Amino acid sequence: MAAEKTLEDLFHDTLKDIYYAEKQILKTLPKMAKAAQSAELKAGFEQHAEETEGQVERLEQIFELLGKPARGKTCDAILGIIEEGKEIMTEYKGTAALDAGLVAAAQAVEHYEIARYGTLKTWASQLGMQDAVKLIDETLAQEVATDKKLTQVAESSANQKAAA
Ligand code: FE
Ligand code: FE
Ligand code: FE
Repeated sequence: MAAEKTLEDLFHDTLKDIYYAEKQILKTLPKMAKAAQSAELKAGFEQHAEETEGQVERLEQIFELLGKPARGKTCDAILGIIEEGKEIMTEYKGTAALDAGLVAAAQAVEHYEIARYGTLKTWASQLGMQDAVKLIDETLAQEVATDKKLTQVAESSANQKAAA
């Protein structure tokens, strides 16, 4: 018979998943910033790279609350999403549609993170881990704000530029 698994196992495994993902994102954001054409998008990626460093630290605090070492587990989803972003950087380099494509690629990343942190927050609450809920909420707010800012860049400039 399979060993029993619980919500705490799910929480721990998903924490490892997003920890791995955040570290991959941390490596990718400077490349996105470098690739972006508009100063606004460039600055947005740079700011989010800084925020992401703090998010990695918050995850390390949550591992500590669990009494487990901070360790990542390969997240195939983020590797695929990042790979798609790299395709945009290569295939749209030097074109008017590059920034609109970068925004879309970045929003796929943010939406994955929002899905993961939303679940982790609910599970932490169910597990009675109020300190973890607070930490996750801080990060979740940054991901949601980043997503909104990306929508604003797309709608105020990047999409028109791409269409012209
Ligand atoms: Fe993040
Ligand atoms: Fe994953
Ligand atoms: Fe993010």
